[in-house]
Amino acid sequence: MGKLYVVGIGPGGVEHMTVKAHRVIAESEIIVGYTKYIEFIKPLLGDKEIYSTGMMGEVERCEAALRLSKDKIVCIISTGDAGIYGMAGLILELKKDEEVEVVPGVTASSAAGSLLGAPLMHDNCNISLSDLMTPYDLIKKRVELAAQGDFVISLYNPRSKGRSNYLRECVDIIRMYRAGSTPVGIVKNALREGEEINLVTLNSLNENIVDMFSIVIIGNSKTFIKDGKMITPRGYENKTTY
Ligand code: SAH
Repeated sequence: MGKLYVVGIGPGGVEHMTVKAHRVIAESEIIVGYTKYIEFIKPLLGDKEIYSTGMMGEVERCEAALRLSKDKIVCIISTGDAGIYGMAGLILELKKDEEVEVVPGVTASSAAGSLLGAPLMHDNCNISLSDLMTPYDLIKKRVELAAQGDFVISLYNPRSKGRSNYLRECVDIIRMYRAGSTPVGIVKNALREGEEINLVTLNSLNENIVDMFSIVIIGNSKTFIKDGKMITPRGYENKTTY
């Protein structure tokens, strides 16, 4: 009897994977994943069978993983957390009687947040600017309501060639509700090779430095910079007045 683990491998560097993710990868006979992500965990793979699918689409990759897991122990990997814009949802939607377990990982916003300081200390949300699955009008609506609700906003898939203007347009929407001086952290390749960290403001954000390997974290109305770190206060100081 086989089993399928849906594993979030974290942001990239193997030391940022959970112990459980390490263990299930070690136990697996077959590893399924997008070619680039397989590279991140190469040192852990030894001579395991690898089903890397550069050209294949997500649905085919998930179907292949489910099929292989009928009589083998299989891992299908996502970067970050498999349940956040990863493979967990599709696997559970497609599964029939296969045994599936989701193994969580450190998502990009947590990885980038740790490098920037503590920007996610208060209510925050993730919004993907990719319109492959979500109409752009709905993306803009969510950005606007998150800005209005004063959430710290992590923008995943912030910019690609096909939609290079979306980030600018979304930042302009957020500026209707938030001061131009609001801190913004841009982290490219967080906790993996090629890491770059930029701390800017809503007014000074230059979208040309942002690409698909980056995440953009926009502070709320209380977020500030101290000693080069971005901090969203939890509000402890206010408690003393109660
Ligand atoms: N499942 C992943 C997200 C996949 S969507 C997770 O939980 O992190 C892909 C987007 O995630 C990228 O376009 C980028 O915005 C973000 N991302 C993933 N890894 C990243 C990293 N190491 N540094 C910065 N952004 C990253």
